[in-house]
Amino acid sequence: MRPETLAIHAGGEADAHNGAIAPPLHLSTTFKHGPAAERIAGYEYQREGNPTQDRFESALTALESGAAALVYGSGMAAMTSALELLPAGSEVLVPQDCYAGLRSLGEEFLPERGVRVRAVDQTDAHAVAAAMTPTVKLIWAETPSNPQLRIADIAALAEIAHQGGALLAVDNTFATPLLQTPLTLGADVVMHSTTKYMGGHSDVMGGALVFARRDALFDKAAHRRHITGNILAPFSSWLTLRGLRSLPARMAWHCANARKVAEFLAEQPSVETVYWPGLASHRNHRIAAVQMRDFGGMVSVTFKGGRDAALAFAGAVQIFTNATSLGGVESLIEHRASVEGPNPVSPPGLLRLSVGLEHGDDLLDDVKQAIARI
Ligand SMILES: *Cc1c(COP(=O)(O)O)cnc(C)c1O
Repeated sequence: MRPETLAIHAGGEADAHNGAIAPPLHLSTTFKHGPAAERIAGYEYQREGNPTQDRFESALTALESGAAALVYGSGMAAMTSALELLPAGSEVLVPQDCYAGLRSLGEEFLPERGVRVRAVDQTDAHAVAAAMTPTVKLIWAETPSNPQLRIADIAALAEIAHQGGALLAVDNTFATPLLQTPLTLGADVVMHSTTKYMGGHSDVMGGALVFARRDALFDKAAHRRHITGNILAPFSSWLTLRGLRSLPARMAWHCANARKVAEFLAEQPSVETVYWPGLASHRNHRIAAVQMRDFGGMVSVTFKGGRDAALAFAGAVQIFTNATSLGGVESLIEHRASVEGPNPVSPPGLLRLSVGLEHGDDLLDDVKQAIARI
């Protein structure tokens, strides 16, 4: 089945008892069992697993063409849980441009556990191959990357990882399974912040890991989640599953609006660089066109006037709202360097736009009037 159909139906079987078409929301923390703890319907305690979460996980598994999925309380909880599966003494190769939380994990927390994180230019497969050592147990990719929209060749990274005895994990938050399915390109694990496009309405946090195989790694992650309690609440599972139903329709609209905004910005004399992988001028456009079905709703931009021009633009927009996060129906904009703490890594003149589902011409009008004020 095609992803558009899977998104509507996966995990959506009618309720066995009453025929309800909308999935029931089960809030129960505990499930009746026999006198010697014999399970009746497969469940025991909410922290280990529950029927609402099962529906969401089976939908994610189907959409990513995986074998199993685990959902967590946030994207960072999912990412941390994956990285903490690594043994002490191992190394992870991460991209130079990546979600700020991954950088913090690598600088502040993973070293305490004996796991070393090394940044490499993942848009250059030769550089990644050259960075492999016997202690590298994982390549962690993020493509498109946040916030510079860099694209890594997933199939090439999978080959390099596997030749070196390592695994490949891909943060697929920006693309969603509608635009690319890393497991079909050789990745071993896919991670999502379901807070973003999957939830889609800026009202529910969550994260997920989807596994290519239901093997010992999956069992370890599932057991670890059960014991450490890093789970997603049933209501959050329910809301995000609801969001998944409209993900294909929303992504098509996000991509179309982002194209309009990116193409317009690219023509403006005050603009320095537009980062959107659908533009022929984007430095990784070629691999993006091979690997992705469309180019997503995230656009970053830098101005010739640098930081001052970026802040003037961000202060002048009226439909775009200055706020962090992305992937909701409403358009958001953010000066990333301002939110990255004392040592920002994003270019000082960079704005990240999460292009929403308003009418594209209204968004263009907003961008036009803001450009006129910088
Ligand atoms: C937001 C985000 C995360 C973290 O997810 P949370 O749900 O905020 O914890 C990780 N990776 C990317 C690419 C993100 O955009």
